[in-house]
Amino acid sequence: MIPLDDEFRIGLEPWMDRAKCKGRPTEDYDIDNLPSPLLVANRRQAAAQLCQKCPVFAECAWYAYRYRIVGWVMAGIPVKLQRNEQHRAQLLGIAARAGIADAQKELSKGAA
Ligand code: SF4
Repeated sequence: MIPLDDEFRIGLEPWMDRAKCKGRPTEDYDIDNLPSPLLVANRRQAAAQLCQKCPVFAECAWYAYRYRIVGWVMAGIPVKLQRNEQHRAQLLGIAARAGIADAQKELSKGAA
């Protein structure tokens, strides 16, 4: 879920109009509303389903990476502060593999 409220003050980007989550309740993508962290498989599956077949999956991953978003499901990943580096690496990898040039540059610098 792209958090576009005042708490984050992050700007709109054109690809957001095509997001699967556009118009859905924000709370659906709040990681606190996913299955318990003790049920890791269920949690991952629930997050993946929220973003399945989203046409802007890669753009979302790059956005979440750039803006260091945590606490939301982004590109099918329940981005959690406690596992932030791992999740950031996953987001960057998704964006780079999808061909986002800036993400590829970032990855080549060894960033994540
Ligand atoms: S990948 Fe998920 S969170 Fe990102 S725009 Fe698509 S549906 Fe929304």
